[in-house]
Amino acid sequence: MINALSIDLEEWYHSELVGGRRSPSSQAAEATKPILDLLDRYQTKASFFVVGEVAEQNPNLIQSIFQRGHEIGCHGYSHTLLWKMDENSFRRELRHFHSVMEGILGKTEIKGFRAPCFSLDNRNKWALKVLLDFGYQYDASIFPLKISPLYGISGAPTRPYRISFEDVRKEDPQSPLMEFPLCPLKIGGLKIPISGGFYLRALPRSFLVWGLRRINRSQPFLIYFHPWESYEKTPRFKLPLCNRVISYYGISSALKKFEFLLKHFRFARVDQVLDLR
Ligand SMILES: [Zn+2]
Repeated sequence: MINALSIDLEEWYHSELVGGRRSPSSQAAEATKPILDLLDRYQTKASFFVVGEVAEQNPNLIQSIFQRGHEIGCHGYSHTLLWKMDENSFRRELRHFHSVMEGILGKTEIKGFRAPCFSLDNRNKWALKVLLDFGYQYDASIFPLKISPLYGISGAPTRPYRISFEDVRKEDPQSPLMEFPLCPLKIGGLKIPISGGFYLRALPRSFLVWGLRRINRSQPFLIYFHPWESYEKTPRFKLPLCNRVISYYGISSALKKFEFLLKHFRFARVDQVLDLR
């Protein structure tokens, strides 16, 4: 079974949990380099959902990712959540992203989109039509569980599906857009997210292997990960306890865990797992 590997290429300050703090300097290139080196070592290609303003500050990084054969996808221009935009501002956001990317890579097809903080749900389903207008072939923003106040939509499919433009939780065989949702581990009636971010950092390796293999009995899973999650110099702020744990737990061992996954599972770019051309 070949699974999908995705990296959301953003700065630490794009996280919703750091309370709007910002930094003028970029850590993205330094934080991403060890990830790129590991991917090379394990001859694995991944999908990088890139924030446009990060690309603007790091054109060489984007060229390097592209030249190594990874997929470049879109994670917005400014990492603004979809609920904070309307259709027109989302179009402006994508235009901005595409003009930055064209400046760096020339005319390159961008097939995949991930909404900042998995913020796609039925309140902003108009975003699907906009994605189609910009030539996208798939979205990877559905988190099919409601366990965080920030994201999640319960009742959505947990395996890739053609997404309905009327109800993002529904499959529509006629839909031109594919959706690759996050795939939770199902045990009895329980659904547990295990394949990305904090969950990946926090769960013990033995449980991860057991859980991911269990998902692989019937379908591929999708990993998501941020370079700041494995970078020692990510600044640590005095956040409320819960946000502090979610943001910083396991950062120092995250690269090792990433490598552990590369050793134990097979991965490819999201567009390849979805068999898109
Ligand atoms: Zn993000």
